[in-house]
Amino acid sequence: MIELRTPAEIDAMRPAGRFVAETLATLRDEVTVGTNLLAIDRRAHDLIRKAGATSCYIDYHPSFGAMPFGKVICTSVNDAVLHGLPFDYALRDGDLVSLDFAVSIDGWVADSAVSFVVGTPRDEDLTLIDTTERALAAAIGAATVGARVGDISHAVAQVARADGYSINTDFGGHGVGREMHGDPHVPNDGKPGRGFPLRAGLILALEPWFLATTDKLITDADGWTLRSADGSRGAHSEHTIAITDEGPIVLTDRAFLGID
Ligand code: MG
Repeated sequence: MIELRTPAEIDAMRPAGRFVAETLATLRDEVTVGTNLLAIDRRAHDLIRKAGATSCYIDYHPSFGAMPFGKVICTSVNDAVLHGLPFDYALRDGDLVSLDFAVSIDGWVADSAVSFVVGTPRDEDLTLIDTTERALAAAIGAATVGARVGDISHAVAQVARADGYSINTDFGGHGVGREMHGDPHVPNDGKPGRGFPLRAGLILALEPWFLATTDKLITDADGWTLRSADGSRGAHSEHTIAITDEGPIVLTDRAFLGID
């Protein structure tokens, strides 16, 4: 079921959006060569407790999960791109890190992801990250009243294809509200002018993610972490947005914080 939110409800979602934005900006600033993925999870957990927020991940147990996730943040490194379960690993120079983070505050969920490199970056990794960020910006730009889900999907795919990346549509954007995942599904490829019509009050998490040289994923032995089938690296950018008559509002925008 697709739910539309009133302007007052959208305002009520802002604290969750702001907290997710601040947390990702903080972690991006703090995480460096040598940081352990378990320490990132502990730090995120501390911030959640201090804010009185509720993790969307720790008890998350969908049909494809081997067991509840058990952590509060996804840490996907190098050839891992989505749902990375934090484990005992200290980041190495040049690692490409994707952090995906969702919480609820006052019963409203916000969901966002950021990718970055620790230490000395490889040019191809910066290009991959830049493409996901530009694809996200294009997706947000297409999220206007009167457009359709397919317009968002098409906008994402155009950016990816122009940069030579292929697209996997198994995992993509989704509605957000009281729960982390709701309708509609927003694939990262689609036909313009098709799909669910975008209306004021629709809240979406838009999340382009691409792999350098494949569109095939494999699941780790941990039952969660999704890696590229060919070992190439992946990047992921995600924001939660509200569609309004005045244009999209990026609820998890980090830009205003001035620290990202
Ligand atoms: Mg997410």
